[in-house]
Amino acid sequence: MSSSNGPERRGKGGWDEVLDTEAHRVAPGSEWRSELYRVALEQFQRAADVLGLEDDIRERLTEPRRALIVNFPVRRETGKIEEMTGYRVQHTLAMGPTKGGIRFAPGVSLGECAALAMWMTFKCALLRLPFGGAKGGVRCDPNRLSVGEMERVVRRYTAECAPLLGPDRDIPAPDMATGEREMSWLMDTYSQQVGYPVPEIVTGKPEVLGGTAGRAPATGLGVVYCLEGALQHLGWEMAGRRVAIQGFGKVGSVIARELVARGATVVAASDVSGGVINDRGLDVDAVVRWLEEHRFLRDFSGGDAVGRRDVLNTPCDVLVPAALERQITEENAGSIDCSLIAEGANGPTTPEADRILAERGIKVVPDVLANAGGVTVSYYEWAQAVQREAWSAEEVTTRLRLQMQDAFGQMIDAADRYETDWRTAAMAVGAERVAEASRMRAVYP
Ligand code: NAD
Repeated sequence: MSSSNGPERRGKGGWDEVLDTEAHRVAPGSEWRSELYRVALEQFQRAADVLGLEDDIRERLTEPRRALIVNFPVRRETGKIEEMTGYRVQHTLAMGPTKGGIRFAPGVSLGECAALAMWMTFKCALLRLPFGGAKGGVRCDPNRLSVGEMERVVRRYTAECAPLLGPDRDIPAPDMATGEREMSWLMDTYSQQVGYPVPEIVTGKPEVLGGTAGRAPATGLGVVYCLEGALQHLGWEMAGRRVAIQGFGKVGSVIARELVARGATVVAASDVSGGVINDRGLDVDAVVRWLEEHRFLRDFSGGDAVGRRDVLNTPCDVLVPAALERQITEENAGSIDCSLIAEGANGPTTPEADRILAERGIKVVPDVLANAGGVTVSYYEWAQAVQREAWSAEEVTTRLRLQMQDAFGQMIDAADRYETDWRTAAMAVGAERVAEASRMRAVYP
């Protein structure tokens, strides 16, 4: 036989030589690496350290179990065909089917989805939900897509990812720039492929398609329940608290409304187009109406216009990052002017910033707990869809409040037990459960 496939290709002068070039010098596991993955990994390692997790379990949980990268053509309104890239990452299959949102954003990458999937694992475990973590998305600028283009992207992405998805396999949900409309298209596309309606394939659907009462405000409400718990723990009143909110989308807008209803004042808010500050308090209903009409916060006249990042440094009692990741970093952590941070967004604070905030005595309610209300009510939606049941909004909200309060209490207990910060404590509660499940399932074969 010709030597092209022979053993000498693999010996010296064969593959070794090829792999030894700069272009091929890839550290094992580096395909997942991203700046956000580094953040998630460092947080997990801290939790693993306080738990004293054994090396093999630790290693098993540091890398995602599976990932799918898809490239697909999309027909633009101009008639031009554009190639797009999407991802779906499943972090662990130890806890049940996987669960996690789908985001449309220009920065979506494999490494970003891997980090977000890892957080989903520990979030679900902390809330005692029968899911492992997943995350997916499409790299695109959703603000530049027409409704028709958006639909074509969602449907093609769903079709491409179908081999990985399923009501007992992996159940997507909304995330940045996706909502009920996109989840309806996803449910319809999957159902068309299998030939019968499958409402339990996705959560965050409209109620008429098997969605649940109470899903839309769930993430924001969960943040507010955590804030109530944190303020009570610290001995502070909610009424009169001054709050700054970065991001005024599905999460940030609900937090603003709910906090104002509890007597707090929103002194600053921002979205991707800019920020607005009003020392006497923003009229939150007017902001919501403005966004419904104008889409972006820019030019809203109910306060002083500032840059979108300025909101983070506004003097306040409570800061709520509810936009995107890596917003509080070592560059600005020293000038954050609040007493408490509640993370509506995933991964808004870097480990370097965490250390600076801790030195300054600023408490952080971490994302894995604070924004877990969304996946918790997603679980209620999935459970109702599987059983063809419909719970009332009151039942959903009551269950959510109790489940969030329980998780908050477990985080506080773990922080005392391990003498650690709230983020490490919350991650440790989740990681301990996943580690236990992994040990019990042992290694196949
Ligand atoms: P969304 O798309 O509805 O809203 C995002 C908001 O952030 C918008 O107001 C947008 O203009 C703003 N924004 C984007 N870039 C910004 C920037 N550079 N500066 C300031 N504002 C900016 O998304 P969402 O569902 O509200 O998600 C927000 C965050 O919450 C994300 O980190 C997401 O992962 C997290 N989260 C969402 C859910 C959910 O149920 N939707 C659940 C858990 C966590």
